[in-house]
Amino acid sequence: MKSYLPFLLLIVCFGCDLKVPIPTADLKAPFELKENYSASYEEGMAFYDKLDGRFTKCKVIEVGETDSGKPLSLAILSKNHDFTLNELVNSDKPIFFINNAIHPGEPCGVDATMLFYRDVLANDSLRQVLDHINIVAIPYYNISGALNRNSTTRANQNGPVEYGFRGNIKNLDLNRDFVKADSKNAKTFNQVFSKLQPEVFIDNHTTNGADYQYTMTLINTLPEKLPASLGGLLKDNMLPFLYSDMAARGWDMTPYVSTYGSIPDQGLVAFNDLPRYSNGYAALHHSLAFTGETHMLKPFKDRVWSNYELLHSMSTWMANHVAELTAAHDQALEATSTEETEVLHWQLDTTQFEDLTFKGYKAEYKPSEITGRQRLNYNRDSSFTKTIKYYNSYRPREDQPVAKPQAFYIPQAWTEVLERLRWNGVEVIELDKAVEVEGQYKYINNYETVNQPYESHYLHFNVTTRSEEATATFEVGDFKVPLGQGRDKYIMASLAPEAPDSYFAWNFFDGILMQKEYYSPYLFEDRAVELLDKHPDWKVELDSLIQNDPSFTENSRTALNWVYKKSDHYEKTHLRYPVFYGQKETIVPVNVFSEQEGEN
Ligand SMILES: [Zn+2]
Repeated sequence: MKSYLPFLLLIVCFGCDLKVPIPTADLKAPFELKENYSASYEEGMAFYDKLDGRFTKCKVIEVGETDSGKPLSLAILSKNHDFTLNELVNSDKPIFFINNAIHPGEPCGVDATMLFYRDVLANDSLRQVLDHINIVAIPYYNISGALNRNSTTRANQNGPVEYGFRGNIKNLDLNRDFVKADSKNAKTFNQVFSKLQPEVFIDNHTTNGADYQYTMTLINTLPEKLPASLGGLLKDNMLPFLYSDMAARGWDMTPYVSTYGSIPDQGLVAFNDLPRYSNGYAALHHSLAFTGETHMLKPFKDRVWSNYELLHSMSTWMANHVAELTAAHDQALEATSTEETEVLHWQLDTTQFEDLTFKGYKAEYKPSEITGRQRLNYNRDSSFTKTIKYYNSYRPREDQPVAKPQAFYIPQAWTEVLERLRWNGVEVIELDKAVEVEGQYKYINNYETVNQPYESHYLHFNVTTRSEEATATFEVGDFKVPLGQGRDKYIMASLAPEAPDSYFAWNFFDGILMQKEYYSPYLFEDRAVELLDKHPDWKVELDSLIQNDPSFTENSRTALNWVYKKSDHYEKTHLRYPVFYGQKETIVPVNVFSEQEGEN
């Protein structure tokens, strides 16, 4: 960095707004210097260090650990030098947060962000965006994957000549890791992102799938999932701007090509961004969240420049809508903390669609040379522009919304859950007095589990529960998570066991799924007779089951199990979700008994 010292001094002496052009001839990015080339991790970080050394409005900071052993770095652009997390939070300026190389085989954003940063710093007209917003970028998120460079693992992709690998050093896909947080990267991201709560977020990717004419495609968080102020601003203002502005910049853009049938002609479906993905995770923290997906068959150069223009387009919209964005963000936080219910499950409404002008290629079928069966082919000599259906309306599932408790109570043993809540800025209160709480325990009724490990877990899905009213005691050192925080969306998405990306779904509570005590059938027969004599109503119910349900006669254990589970012998904690839905709390009086005794 020594050789740039004279420049630094010059800039400091004159202030940042030099009237003479800043010499940038040596600030060519590796992408510009070599054909079909994406910067390696070392080259990319060296480039940001160079920007940091040259421009006072740019700084690179380290914010925490990653699995690679190298720190997670942020590159920050700020006119007022808001270069710490606290300064960024305390600034009036909204934050534009850019994530790169979560999938290092899809590096368009890596190079686009380098060019974007350089040009914002060096170009007078572009620099004005920093009068209105701060910009924070992660140059490389999956660093271990970026270091694992190769030229083969993106089988169908059109460049660059070298790129990183999708999995990280633990072979995790970090874009499924935002709630379970198996990686140190996710822990650091949780901490940084929840602290900053950026107004706008983009994660840069490259997509495979169908062929069509567009270079850039876009996923946006479902507006329905956001509080109304933000959802409205996204749907009615920001999205229309982005699509028209990108067209004006020469990069006509389409929604992410997730097809309703097998080909785009049959319509597109808006992507349901669950919290496991960066997009859905960011939305839980009230970001207008996007995933940019360049199309893998387009030349790398075009993919990078379209991504570059998308970054400009988003920052331009933000700079022009600071007041609306800030107001909508504040209203959203207020709405989240006062709303008494939350939707955990969204489903596509197939009766609703918009007309979408789509520029595609004709899908054709021909015999496969390998199997002889029909295979799909997109004919690039036969392009079309036509109106297709865009299914982009989601509605709450029939059993939604669900009520929020006054507070969740979590026994202190569940440390992994408690630390993840804290990483996400959730207010977690350690009890300094024992409390008795009226509320509900939830019991797991049904759940399904994937057959193969999915991202290092046996993920549960289709989880259903039943509630039982209860009064529970929590001891000193246990924890309370009050609802009514701006973090309620994250709290409900992670702690409500039925939610698709809950901690329960990701196996943090699997201990409760296994029964610990059983009985000996030859002995329990006699005990069952005693119990049925004692409870004639059970006997009536069991007789009816024996008459009507063949499983009760086919297997003698079925009836015994039934009686066992009705009895006090059956453990109450089997299938009982240990996080209590508290509604009313009373402090347990201390030593009342011994004080009364003392008076005698
Ligand atoms: Zn990707």
